[in-house]
Amino acid sequence: MKILVAVKRVVDFNVKVRVKPDGTGVETANVKMSMNPFDEIAVEEAVRLKEAGAAIEIIAVSCGPAACQETLRTALAIGADRAILVESSEELQPLAVSKILKSVVEREKPNLVILGKQAIDDDCNQTGQMLAALLGWAQATFASKVKLSPEKAEVTREVDGGLETDSVKLPAVITTDLRLNEPRYVTLPNIMKAKKKALETLKPDALGVDVSPRLQTLKVTEPPKRKAGAKVPDAKTLVEKLRNEAKVL
Ligand code: AMP
Repeated sequence: MKILVAVKRVVDFNVKVRVKPDGTGVETANVKMSMNPFDEIAVEEAVRLKEAGAAIEIIAVSCGPAACQETLRTALAIGADRAILVESSEELQPLAVSKILKSVVEREKPNLVILGKQAIDDDCNQTGQMLAALLGWAQATFASKVKLSPEKAEVTREVDGGLETDSVKLPAVITTDLRLNEPRYVTLPNIMKAKKKALETLKPDALGVDVSPRLQTLKVTEPPKRKAGAKVPDAKTLVEKLRNEAKVL
């Protein structure tokens, strides 16, 4: 079984994101970039499946600028076997990424594609679903547990009422939720080993994919600043304030 994992390079989750002064987007120059956290979980899951003997090869794919090579090297250090960068300096929206991934899937013929449930920069939560639709494959989103057998995957999902377990026929697309696993710490020897693993670079044109944007961002603004809080001396004053000012009681 071959597993393809999609990894996106995003602004690191610890960085306080700043909006560009002209409101066209967020600052990414001189900002720490990392692998999207849900994609780290996706790579970790693929590696665990391989370690358990359920998969033989893991291919990590990233779409974006040349710097995505770093993200792919991290995926290789976690345990992916080889990597593909689909290089483009254009803004790649989820539909374009889905089309690129579809074309890579047709080339590589994996039995399973694992993606993050969402990228923390655009919060779209679209790519996995659109990829499954384009391929005509089954999909199981927001996985918190995956059990793989040669013909199917059993996927547990956290839903409002508890846990839902679905069975999907392979080939399928799975997207990861936060509690699926805790990604391993990347060790120095594995970072060194990752440098020697194969990383192929392709262009969307060579894959026959039109990546032109379908959606225009009109503006990006900072969230409104929170008003300063006030300290109250005791519970009685708090209740009075809530009654008179917030009118909640
Ligand atoms: P989104 O639909 O943008 O929230 O992204 C969902 C998932 O799709 C991510 O967690 C990644 O696994 C994958 N993905 C999105 N954009 C890219 C990209 N540029 N390169 C590789 N994978 C991506």
